[in-house]
Amino acid sequence: MELRTPPTATILDGRALAKQLAAELRAECAELVARLGFAPIVAVVLVGDDPASRAYSANIARTCARIGFGSRAVELPGTASEEELRAALVALNGEREICGVIVQMPLPPHLSPVVVEQTLAPGKDIDGITPANAGRLALGLPSFVPNTPAGGMEMLRRHGIPVAGRRAVVVGRSNVVGKPMALLLLREHATVTVCHSRTVDLPAILREADIVASATGRAHLIDGGMLRPGVTVIDFGINFPDWSGGKMVGDVDFQSAITVAGAITPVPGGTGPVTNMMLMRNALAAARALGG
Ligand code: NDP
Repeated sequence: MELRTPPTATILDGRALAKQLAAELRAECAELVARLGFAPIVAVVLVGDDPASRAYSANIARTCARIGFGSRAVELPGTASEEELRAALVALNGEREICGVIVQMPLPPHLSPVVVEQTLAPGKDIDGITPANAGRLALGLPSFVPNTPAGGMEMLRRHGIPVAGRRAVVVGRSNVVGKPMALLLLREHATVTVCHSRTVDLPAILREADIVASATGRAHLIDGGMLRPGVTVIDFGINFPDWSGGKMVGDVDFQSAITVAGAITPVPGGTGPVTNMMLMRNALAAARALGG
């Protein structure tokens, strides 16, 4: 058995893993494109003109090109009605070359995400946001899993970090990160506790954990003093607090956590880069269903 002595945790390098995943996915995609006779397309629907969403769309287009998918930006004005959004999604559902559809969130305030959840074909829901996919995940059936928690699990798997029988604490219970992460850990036989803003004495719960996965959007909510020596930390947080001078920081105080943890994802360069690759993996699975 490998013995690790603090203070230096293994850094779970998301950029290196993403590179490795990209090479694997590129090969699989090339094979699929040859079988299908066309490059399947990932559509990104953008309603309005949010600069962050626009940057994210461009990032997805670049990732698609890198793996071998086509991409299409579908832009609707910020004043688009529910009917117009629904019609755009119905059209994309019906196009054979489109393997996956992503709708940029948040939508303008007059549009409810429920429109997307109700309209998007579950087979093209490569973000795993529809009730059909979320329900299938909860039931332990094959489904499109949200990319961020899928990336966290891939990180654990590829680094050979055991999950079965371990105590996992997930901090955050959103439908896109915390909740699916808890379900995925449970599926891999961890004993899972989910914490949130009403949790009493978070540090006491964290100290029990072999694995901590945090998705709160609260910069440095967790520090090394709250962690058990040797714990594995998966930090999904993306935060730009005033005090960081514009630097991105996680939910976990990396400097203090690294002296206690056995393994930890840095921010940036941890879970973020892997998320995109999980999106591509979902796109590949969706594209296979096109008949390849
Ligand atoms: P949400 O705001 O939807 O959810 C945050 C969750 O954190 C809620 O469940 C909330 O509890 C909980 N929470 C808030 N404050 C505390 C606290 N003090 N103690 C314990 N729990 C708390 O965020 P998301 O899930 O969408 O995103 C979470 C983070 O992950 C963000 O930083 C986001 O930027 C990042 N993210 C990272 C991605 C990646 O690829 N790495 C992709 C997507 C998101 P309650 O439910 O009670 O309100």
